[in-house]
Amino acid sequence: MLSTEGLTGQIILQSSPGYNQARKNYNGRFNKFPLIIVYCENTQDVINAILWVRKHRLPLRVRGGGHSYEAFSLVNGGLIIDVSPLLGFQISSDKGSVRIGAGFRLTPLYEALWNAGLVVPGGTCPTVCVSGLTLGGGYGLLSRLFGMLCDNLLEFQMITPQGQLITANESSHPDLFWACRGGGQGSFGVITSFTFRTHPIGNVSRYRMTWNFDALKTLVNFWQVWAPYADSRLTSLLALPSQNQGDLRSSGVFVGSEQELRSIVRPLQEISSPNTIEFHTSSWLETAYQFGGIPVQQELFKNSSAYVYEPLPNIALDTIISNLRSSPGPVNLVTFDAYGGAISQTPANQTAFVHRKALFSVQYQSYWTQPQDENKNIQWIEKFRSSLLPYTYGAYSNYCDLMIPDWPTAYYGANLPSLKMVKQMYDPENLFQFEQSIPL
Ligand SMILES: Cc1cc2nc3c(=O)[nH]c(=O)nc-3n(C[C@H](O)[C@H](O)[C@H](O)COP(=O)(O)OP(=O)(O)OC[C@H]3O[C@@H](n4cnc5c(N)ncnc54)[C@H](O)[C@@H]3O)c2cc1C
Repeated sequence: MLSTEGLTGQIILQSSPGYNQARKNYNGRFNKFPLIIVYCENTQDVINAILWVRKHRLPLRVRGGGHSYEAFSLVNGGLIIDVSPLLGFQISSDKGSVRIGAGFRLTPLYEALWNAGLVVPGGTCPTVCVSGLTLGGGYGLLSRLFGMLCDNLLEFQMITPQGQLITANESSHPDLFWACRGGGQGSFGVITSFTFRTHPIGNVSRYRMTWNFDALKTLVNFWQVWAPYADSRLTSLLALPSQNQGDLRSSGVFVGSEQELRSIVRPLQEISSPNTIEFHTSSWLETAYQFGGIPVQQELFKNSSAYVYEPLPNIALDTIISNLRSSPGPVNLVTFDAYGGAISQTPANQTAFVHRKALFSVQYQSYWTQPQDENKNIQWIEKFRSSLLPYTYGAYSNYCDLMIPDWPTAYYGANLPSLKMVKQMYDPENLFQFEQSIPL
């Protein structure tokens, strides 16, 4: 039997109580059996786990919140470094930045910052961890105003593949700092803490409108040339559910008054009469709760993504309609997240996150509850994604998909060669490798 000597932290073996819970990720589609899961309570636990893996030559994965679409934070027969117990939290004296442990999930982070009237622009899901989110880019309801979450990263601490603690920022290890802002998930080392720029926040306003399926073409034709260019205080989303599964809907958050928001979204309201229209003003925290919904432990799903750089022509909209009409599941949909604003103001080579000039991201989404429905839903996602390839470009690494053949180019585009150089420099032995880690 393998000795755990040298490992510290909370060690879960296959024989430990709680193993079955500890080995599960958010996406219930995966059923993996790691040998050891180490819940790291401090940086020394992480260092010890890395040194132990080097000695025993076992596969290694890093886990933050376990939300990887393809369960890249799990591996059969290996060791998982789980950073979820790392929950340090310190706001700087001038309130301009916050240093947090790498285990923070979004709702607890929003709540802790809200107490000081602050925010960092994270994503919508309450249980996603800042680690994976930041390292892949990080899009959310404030992105068009404040940029991607990685654009607000000032510094991080990492345990390298050699087991050393380093600090990376614009002047210390700037190449690694560059790579981890969009291309850093599980490929270079284990991040143990992040320092983010904070922004003051108070009340915000939001809207939600719905339309019949018949309005799809008119709606998308308008939204795609409006939302990416709208006032950058507005971040707008569009959801197109499969036919007969609810109305088309657009919602968004505006950092400003409801009165101003009403006038900004009036053109959207006027292109095709919505079935319902709602406006609300509430605290940022209440808004984050509303968009996040009720936290879910696990779902069975397959999602994928692409980016739109030029407005979709009508033929592409016909393709979307026919895919939505042939959905095998009742809750499948495609969603668009508006880019532009602050996202587009950072040059594409300034961080590893490359898709700066996209108009919006497309997310193909499929959910089911019965295991026998898995194959047909996965096939639907792949058919949907493939059929729109003539009109889309690339994909978002945070919405990772094992079925994308040339995923390195899709995720990282022209930034791929530099990412490979950083990988060669920091992890020449490829200790941190998984199905879609940065190749050497
Ligand atoms: C329900 C849901 C909602 C989502 N909403 C959004 C959204 O609004 N915006 C958005 O941009 N994305 C969103 N995502 C995608 C999300 O950003 C990614 O799935 C992200 O990678 C999850 O990070 P995690 O730490 O929770 O997951 P994990 O599975 O733990 O990690 C994801 C990847 O990051 C690596 N990693 C994790 N922690 C570390 C660390 N400390 N050091 C080094 N590598 C690490 C892992 O090895 C893995 O490769 C959503 C995902 C889900 C499931």
